[in-house]
Amino acid sequence: EEELPLLQNGGRKDYIIIYYDRAHIYIFLFLLEYLVETEYLSVDPYMRPYVRDLPLGTTMIGSQVAKIVESKNPSFPVGKKIVGNLGWRTHTIIDPKTEDLFFKQKPYLLPDIDELPSSLGLGMLGMPGNTAYFGLLEICKPKSGETIVISGAAGAVGSHVGQIAKNLGLNVIGICGSDEKCKWLTEEMGFDFAINYKTMPVAARLREVAPQGVDCYFDNVGGDISGIVMYQMNLFGRVAVCGSISSYDADTSSLPKCAILQPALVTNQLKMEGFIVKRWSDRWNEGIMQNLQWIREGKLRYRETVTKGFENMFDAFIGMMRGDNIGKAIVQV
Ligand code: NDP
Repeated sequence: EEELPLLQNGGRKDYIIIYYDRAHIYIFLFLLEYLVETEYLSVDPYMRPYVRDLPLGTTMIGSQVAKIVESKNPSFPVGKKIVGNLGWRTHTIIDPKTEDLFFKQKPYLLPDIDELPSSLGLGMLGMPGNTAYFGLLEICKPKSGETIVISGAAGAVGSHVGQIAKNLGLNVIGICGSDEKCKWLTEEMGFDFAINYKTMPVAARLREVAPQGVDCYFDNVGGDISGIVMYQMNLFGRVAVCGSISSYDADTSSLPKCAILQPALVTNQLKMEGFIVKRWSDRWNEGIMQNLQWIREGKLRYRETVTKGFENMFDAFIGMMRGDNIGKAIVQV
């Protein structure tokens, strides 16, 4: 069996597959490309540090949900939707053999979720949802009755982590940046307590709401908040370091000023582990299908902050970095 590039249609590739045995040669021509039209684009915190390495003139990176509008590929029929890291663009011809250079991931079909918005493919049923699912279960290893603190709690990942933790029987405390977000977390998302880090003394408030100490910390923000939480952790606590948005603007060429964490780690014998969700790419579908089941069973609720218009991508991105979003920040093209 061989696979050869056959045709160059203005830079587009089709493929020929040749099978042969002693008596026969079988030649199959596969025209695999398909054309997609973008419906929703994602704005995510990782873009801030990662774009520094992109040469000027490169298409901005980012994932999207797109509808297949033309297809030569039976596995990707017209009308289905895909999730792909295709960058900030409205139309893309996809050669399914090509993985994106940045994430090394191929576009994949969104499961049929007719009763739900397809934009969930960028949130709860996509990368942030899998980050919450695998990061919480595999790194924090939460147990019923324990106390978890989540920073960045009212965002895409944080609000998802808190709900899974609550379903598992934990005492859930969120830290976020506005009273409106705190109210949403406690009144609608099932969090036990929420702390507004912009207006409340986080250390004192955390001691009040978690006098029993903290067993798990799901860290989305890093910096001073994380230092405060880690000094209130119990023996053998677990810290999942998911992100550090408070330092994405920092100049890391010299040693940045940071909280001294080692005494907390040593004294409380904490386990602190960073992760990137790609670690579970071989279990990607498991995360998506489990989160879908929980949404359908009413065990997970979602919220999106939707900006309309491709031309407003930049404002949506800056708004998310500033904290304007509740739940997942997306752009409807
Ligand atoms: P969010 O939806 O949580 O949006 C970002 C939020 O960060 C803002 O809404 C804002 O909320 C908060 N924020 C901004 N600046 C600060 C600051 N200086 N201090 C504290 N909070 C701040 O984004 P995501 O849910 O998509 O991502 C959350 C975190 O998870 C990020 O750090 C991201 O990089 C990380 N991540 C990591 C992955 C991995 O594989 N490890 C995968 C996906 C995400 P507020 O109003 O509360 O300030």
